[in-house]
Amino acid sequence: MAKRDLKGHFLAEVVRLWPVARGSLSYVRKPCIRPNCPACARGDKHPSWILSFYDKGKQRCLYVPQKLVATLRQAIANGRKVEQLLSECGAGLVYENRARRKARSSKREG
Ligand SMILES: [Zn+2]
Repeated sequence: MAKRDLKGHFLAEVVRLWPVARGSLSYVRKPCIRPNCPACARGDKHPSWILSFYDKGKQRCLYVPQKLVATLRQAIANGRKVEQLLSECGAGLVYENRARRKARSSKREG
C-alpha cells in the first residue's frame, strides 16, 4: 500500500467489494401451518435460509429467497474484507502521521 494514498487505496478497494453485508446465513427446516402438508407429514418440513444480523444492537432475522443465497454469501465475505480494510486504514493513519513527523524532524536536523 502506498502510504501517500491511503484514501485512494480505501476508495478503490471498497468499490470492488460490492455487494457487502454483515451477518450470518443459516439453513433451517421448519414446519408450516398448512393442515395435512405432505412435506411436514414426512418430516421433511420446509427448508429455508435465514440472515441474522444486528440492527442498532438488536439481533434480527430475515428469510432469504434461494436465489439470493449466493449473493448474500459473497456479500458477507466482502463485508469481512471491508472490516479488514477499515483496520488497515486506522493503522495507516497512524503510520502516515509518524512518517510526517519523522520527515519534519529530519528536515529540522538537516
Ligand atoms: Zn409443511
